[in-house]
Amino acid sequence: MDHGKGSPQGPVIYSAVHTDKDMTGIKEKTWEPWAEALRKMAMHPEQHIDTLLQVTQEAVVLHDKFPKGRKHLLVVSRQEGLDCVKDLNRSHIQLLKNLQALGEEWVQNLLNEDQSLVFRLGYHSEPSMRQLHLHVISQDFDSPSLKNKKHWNSFTTSFFRDSKATIEELETTGRVQLYGDEHSIQNLELRCHRCQSTQGNIARLKQHIRMCKAPFPSDLVHKGYLYTWK
Ligand code: AMP
Repeated sequence: MDHGKGSPQGPVIYSAVHTDKDMTGIKEKTWEPWAEALRKMAMHPEQHIDTLLQVTQEAVVLHDKFPKGRKHLLVVSRQEGLDCVKDLNRSHIQLLKNLQALGEEWVQNLLNEDQSLVFRLGYHSEPSMRQLHLHVISQDFDSPSLKNKKHWNSFTTSFFRDSKATIEELETTGRVQLYGDEHSIQNLELRCHRCQSTQGNIARLKQHIRMCKAPFPSDLVHKGYLYTWK
């Protein structure tokens, strides 16, 4: 989520996106070089064979380099010009369904290895890395790479747009509503994603979630956003 210049896990100082006005006054996006890594793999998978778990016509699948849970994969679209959720419209519905299906196949593989895992599939409202990518992330959040408020809130608040909800919203409205940006989620409190208790800091939160056995929020269960062994 946060990526300092030249250091993907460094302190949160820079935004990946610079917004400049061109001569017409229309805002254009430019991305920092480090924010292009996923896009490079998606566009030139043959140069990244050792890193990629799977390559299809539409997507590449890889391990997140800084996993925020025991299992954390990325399913990256290979469609040119599709940087983030904001770019989505009705024409992308089938693509999103295919990305989700691919993500679900990997969830099944991972559940076959460890039946205790629980997964969620979704997109960040405002990504740090360029090229639309679906997060496939286990809900233990048991990882040394999960280091700060921004990491936590990017996966446990409405900033995280579940894949199924994203598709439904595109079908209904033709666009996807974004909730928050990378700065606003830093101002949110730290809440356990299971029991919803607030925790004073990230160390306490991580200690708490190792022990918390409260059920997951019922709306996530009922909407089918959680993937478990069946
Ligand atoms: P987002 O914040 O939605 O753009 O997520 C980008 C994800 O890419 C984060 O979870 C990072 O840990 C991950 N990441 C950053 N650099 C790389 C890389 N070179 N290879 C694989 N994953 C990466």
